[in-house]
Amino acid sequence: MTASFNPPQRILMGPGPSDVSPRVLAAMARPTIGHLDPVFVSMMDELKGLLQYAFQTKNELTMPVSGPGSAGMETCFVNLVEPGDKVIVCQNGVFGGRMKENVERCGATPIMVMDDWGAAVDANKVEDALKANPGVKAVAFVHAETSTGAQSDAQAISALAHRYGALSLVDTVTSLGGSPLKVDEWGIDAIYSGSQKCLSCTPGLSPVSFSAQALEIIKNRKTKVQSWFMDLNLVMGYWGTGAKRAYHHTAPINALYGLHESLVILQEEGLENAWARHRQNHMALKAGIEAMGLSFVVKEQDRLPQLNSIYVPEGVDDAAVRRLLLEDYGLEIGAGLGAMAGKIWRIGLMGHASNMRNVLVCLGALEDVLS
Ligand code: PLP
Repeated sequence: MTASFNPPQRILMGPGPSDVSPRVLAAMARPTIGHLDPVFVSMMDELKGLLQYAFQTKNELTMPVSGPGSAGMETCFVNLVEPGDKVIVCQNGVFGGRMKENVERCGATPIMVMDDWGAAVDANKVEDALKANPGVKAVAFVHAETSTGAQSDAQAISALAHRYGALSLVDTVTSLGGSPLKVDEWGIDAIYSGSQKCLSCTPGLSPVSFSAQALEIIKNRKTKVQSWFMDLNLVMGYWGTGAKRAYHHTAPINALYGLHESLVILQEEGLENAWARHRQNHMALKAGIEAMGLSFVVKEQDRLPQLNSIYVPEGVDDAAVRRLLLEDYGLEIGAGLGAMAGKIWRIGLMGHASNMRNVLVCLGALEDVLS
């Protein structure tokens, strides 16, 4: 007979998922009720308000997509991009590459603005691309590039998009709840995130939000959205604001309890305090990392506090170090992705895992394993 699965207790300091708060796990263990039960529906209304707070937006269409960050990404692209459109895609790491794939699969043309891995998106290059390509539908970019730890100026790039009559479409999977993000003030039109990083919920939900202008575009498409599941014109029947909510798909009920709880925790702490905590713990980690003679991949002004990319020292076996950290300390840190594989480690300080105890455990363990 197969026994029940009992995972070990780990400290999750990789690029996500991050440690899930026990309060979130407890919330998820509460009784499953129907997805149209009036009590559940009022929880959905609260969830929307909590997400509006986390995103700093009044956008009516703010909801969690039933699926991981990648589902939020696809939801944004398949709803806003139609065959024949041109979309500027900024790529400075792995996830910009996925945006390109999405644009192509929508039958549209991606216009690539490339920056080095580890650098922020260069707003001047974005403006050059906008000037050279009139009629671009959207500018898509990653605010917090998890593959490198670089943060781009979402406010400046969104403003540029608007100046040239384009929408801004922003990936904030790693930034939401961990570093400043202000959807309305920055003029972001379409945004997606993930539950498993700085919100410290379990993986598998993707908060999204759309401006009134984006919503108009979605409602007035020339063609049907190619994905039935992600077509917001249909999903809105369940998540929208109409008096009645109708079945679209069975919501991941207990996962939504968890997201609700993680956002309650964020609200209790206060968004600004959460941003400050991530910054403070990053500064403590940085002091220790530099004292060990290790160096950061991203230059200081573009560094994400919640994702610290560090060069693997010469002659050190990246995978062996990560294995020892996991076996001896129960500590997970991340490897490099794509072009960075074997060259960097990615140390996450996200959400519930962003605390001083984890900083000290990680520094002590790294020092031990490297000595
Ligand atoms: N975008 C970014 C910046 C990410 O870091 C990730 C996941 O790490 C994703 C998108 C995809 O999210 P998921 O793995 O939840 O599908």
